[in-house]
Amino acid sequence: MTKIINGKEFAAKLRALTLKEIEVSGLKPGLAVVLVGNDPASEVYVRNKDAAAREVGIAAETIKLAADISQAELLAKIAELNKDKKIHGILVQLPLPKHIDEKAVINAIDPDKDVDGFHVINAGRAFTGQAGLVPCTPLGCILLLKDLLGDLSGMNAVVIGRSNIVGKPMANLLLAENCTVTIAHSKTRDLPGVCAQADILVAAVGRPKMVKANWVKEGAVVIDVGINRVDGKLCGDVDFDEVAPKCRAITPVPGGVGPMTIACLLKNTLDAARRLRK
Ligand code: NAD
Repeated sequence: MTKIINGKEFAAKLRALTLKEIEVSGLKPGLAVVLVGNDPASEVYVRNKDAAAREVGIAAETIKLAADISQAELLAKIAELNKDKKIHGILVQLPLPKHIDEKAVINAIDPDKDVDGFHVINAGRAFTGQAGLVPCTPLGCILLLKDLLGDLSGMNAVVIGRSNIVGKPMANLLLAENCTVTIAHSKTRDLPGVCAQADILVAAVGRPKMVKANWVKEGAVVIDVGINRVDGKLCGDVDFDEVAPKCRAITPVPGGVGPMTIACLLKNTLDAARRLRK
């Protein structure tokens, strides 16, 4: 029987734990969510993050800035938040308008307040096995995998996708768990053959239902990070109906990885507050 991994339930438990830990810690973590412009999808994401933070006792503040803000003005705002002792987490909602250099903005955030884990210092810390803030989506995936499998040592893991936000940090986390990791991408030869070697297969591509049953080893665990909209309905990068019967376990879309991302953002904000107190 295939286990359908319930990310919604796991995320609810993680949020409850974060709330409890915040209460016990006596900390008042503060999260600043910076939204530039008025992209409707970004507005929804920011609203959800703000609301979820408040529910666990994080003092969330959404800072809305005009779409035509200059890079210098945005950097000045970040510098102000870096200095603000009440703020422990800073998140800049991406994408930013085209005239702004996203990398420069992310790298202007104090790395210890970088709750998205995108700062080059946090990427470097993760790469060299030092403690730091880890990107929320891959963190959510690894928590689901460890909950399901316990020890991941020696497993063959294949990650499809090499973005800085999902694919690369995901591969790094799997490596830290002693998996043998392959990163596959748009130029990989024989992608189905590479994927068929995986005990753990993570799909983070953004192509609806790309991963088919013949790409998946019998008894593999499949984590579907993809979020795609087809005919108004959400689906992942994995052809769930075809693939699920072959798997030991699989995340659905929606209700799998998605809810873990915000829950991990809250966890990161608490972790940042703890680190900053030290
Ligand atoms: P991205 O576009 O930055 O990266 C996609 C990666 O897929 C690239 O590295 C590319 O090499 C690879 N790729 C593209 N076409 C390919 C192909 N035909 N074969 C193999 N590899 C191919 O995307 P991203 O930001 O990493 O996001 C990936 C997906 O995950 C998207 O659907 C996104 O919406 C979703 N996502 C979900 C969450 C969540 O909370 N669940 C968070 C972030 C991203």
